[in-house]
Amino acid sequence: MTPASADAAASLDLGGDIVVTAILGGHMRLDGGAMFGVVPKPLWERVSPPDDRNRIANACRCLLIRTAQATVLVDTGCGDRFNDRNRDIFAVDAAVSLEASLAAAGVALTDITHVLFTHLHFDHSAGALRDVAGELVPTFPNAIHIVQQGEFDDALAGRSIMRSSYVAADLDVLAGAVRWIWTDGDGPILPGVRVQRTKGHTEHHQSVFFEGETETLVFPGDLMPTRAHLRPYWIMAYDMFPYDTFTRKQELAQQVQDSGWIVAWDHDPGVPWSRLAADERTGFAAIDIDATIDATYKS
Ligand SMILES: [Zn+2]
Repeated sequence: MTPASADAAASLDLGGDIVVTAILGGHMRLDGGAMFGVVPKPLWERVSPPDDRNRIANACRCLLIRTAQATVLVDTGCGDRFNDRNRDIFAVDAAVSLEASLAAAGVALTDITHVLFTHLHFDHSAGALRDVAGELVPTFPNAIHIVQQGEFDDALAGRSIMRSSYVAADLDVLAGAVRWIWTDGDGPILPGVRVQRTKGHTEHHQSVFFEGETETLVFPGDLMPTRAHLRPYWIMAYDMFPYDTFTRKQELAQQVQDSGWIVAWDHDPGVPWSRLAADERTGFAAIDIDATIDATYKS
């Protein structure tokens, strides 16, 4: 297993010509209370220590999937277009960028054939646009962009319990600037890649499954953003439908555990992915994956 510090370029070979690479699309701090919803601070601060402004570390992790036919990026991170105020509020780490992480994996922006979004909150979609001389342009001009139809509609209409979660100025540009395919429910996207609608964080949030010949990896997005969120009641206050998150994430975690799959974490600051085991106290425990499938990509 690649050490967590090598996160930026850690890769897994799923067999059958499917290689998955963890791509850091940003690093930001979010309010610890909001990240754990109804869980009292004395419990969560032991697992995820806050800074003096009550913020905890969060990765904005994307996944790069290379198959024989396609180069797919799942989510695009928070981007780097923060004003000074938001850069301070979120403690954005300027040293981390999607472009640099992709370059480290040997991929050019023009190589990406598909951008697959779990949902369109800014910390998952802002990286799909970049500022070139004051103009917003698509970061991945050759890519087909894919999201659930319902999520696209909700995002453009700003249907959210958080004013800042969908950025209208971005989404209006992105909607017209790239090619889109809208998914509706569950189904295949490409050979070895399928999506499943997982309501909870948003109504039409989707999780992504990558099925190689030897391994299956699930990217549950904000249904289960970190290892801490494996605990059934640890649910983000940002979630639109927390009881759906509660039930759906336990079903998915059980499936991952029973099937010996790998689960990838979008916001976990420590590790990009884990396998799961039963845990009497917390329900599920995250365990490091076996080094034998590590295929850390050399460009
Ligand atoms: Zn979100």
